[in-house]
Amino acid sequence: MLNRIDLRGSSPATGGVVDRGLLPRAEFDVEAALEKVRPICDDVRHRGTAALIEYARRFDGADIQRIRVPEAALASALEELDPAVRAALEESIRRARLVHRDQRRSDSTVRVVPGGTVTERWVPVERVGLYVPGGRAVYPSSVVMNVVPAQEAGVGSLAVASPPQREHGGLPHPTILAACALLGVTEVHAAGGAQAVAMFAHGTEECPPVRLVTGPGNVYVAAAKRLLKGIVGIDAEAGPTEIAVLADATAAPRLVAADLVSQAEHDVLAAAVLVTPEPALVDAVEAELRVQAAAAKHHERITAALTGRQSGAVLVDDLDHGLAVTDAYAPEHLEILTADAPALAARVRNAGAVFVGPWAPVSLGDYAAGSNHVLPTGGCACHSSGLSVQSFLRGIHVVDYDREALAGVADHVVTLAEAEDLPAHGTAVSVRFPAPGAGPEAA
Ligand code: NAD
Repeated sequence: MLNRIDLRGSSPATGGVVDRGLLPRAEFDVEAALEKVRPICDDVRHRGTAALIEYARRFDGADIQRIRVPEAALASALEELDPAVRAALEESIRRARLVHRDQRRSDSTVRVVPGGTVTERWVPVERVGLYVPGGRAVYPSSVVMNVVPAQEAGVGSLAVASPPQREHGGLPHPTILAACALLGVTEVHAAGGAQAVAMFAHGTEECPPVRLVTGPGNVYVAAAKRLLKGIVGIDAEAGPTEIAVLADATAAPRLVAADLVSQAEHDVLAAAVLVTPEPALVDAVEAELRVQAAAAKHHERITAALTGRQSGAVLVDDLDHGLAVTDAYAPEHLEILTADAPALAARVRNAGAVFVGPWAPVSLGDYAAGSNHVLPTGGCACHSSGLSVQSFLRGIHVVDYDREALAGVADHVVTLAEAEDLPAHGTAVSVRFPAPGAGPEAA
């Protein structure tokens, strides 16, 4: 079922290199999707709500007259929410708040010289747009993962967008509306895909433009984020889910398979990768995958994801080699199922999030670990982080120097300005210190 990739004999410990080109990776062609989403985004910029209504019909099969969800619909979705789902969401929110509240930063001031300070002030983005996917699956958990860090960062104005659902009268899924209501979100829009990102970036009659768009989504969402970056801030491209499991002979094949299947369930493009030095484990996991995938509710989607070229079993020389492979792959989620998992986890360089040992499956992080599940995919984990309070803050340097402090460094500023052939920069400093008798000094 899984493609097998044999990298034995190429460990960096024996002088080999890990060739990223040999590793599985989703065929997630954001560049190709760019051409598709460009006219959609232009149309939303020019026609606003009318364009959104048209795309709701074309892409979501929903016949709607307005995009903004009435607040009464949020309240009634919460009233009708299954009490068990409500309790689970409340616990998810409580845990996420614990973790994200701890990420808040205090302003800090450094006294560079007597009379000269630089303060770093952390200021929340004023207005943000949070995308919650709702195509193949519905993600109330993504409401929690977007909204909690934004609220903990102190964002003043936040709007949620999620695709309209034909079977729910063209509103986003009721569980998404209920999750918004639980979190105190009052501005929700029934818009999905690229058009939702364009709505946030350009603004419409019903949705004032935002400064930053965050949240996961499919290739059209990722392409629109890439296209509109600059007009609006974006987090990272959080595309189809990826799981890599680094395992040794102590791993239970049943659990490895269950965890691979759990992430394959997201999308036909989801990636499930096993990295191990144990050929026998690969065979045992294969056998389990066949049974578990066949029995799963979404078995077609799961089988497509597991057999796609983005998924596979990678054989390595040993766990050090395995770690080199997962670092090169930079998965969104990395599970470590080995004898000394915490020690190995401490050495991971590239992963969106790491799950340590048999009691921390990725599903826990998807819903209720307290960690964030909006994570970088497609190898972006080697340079980007998952969503956090930090994603919604900007650090502003406040420079405060008095006369003596500036005088103490004036010559260096003038020298560097001249070295860059920008003498007016130097003059802006030297003019403040005229030679005696040359005229009035700056106040
Ligand atoms: P989605 O909400 O991202 O996309 C649905 C929208 O796509 C529709 O509303 C429609 O507007 C648009 N669309 C569909 N077909 C189109 C077409 N042919 N042309 C233009 N637009 C079209 O929901 P989804 O499709 O279920 O995808 C969600 C994705 O998010 C999955 O890949 C899942 O793995 C991923 N995800 C990632 C993370 C993460 O943190 N990386 C977290 C949760 C989900």
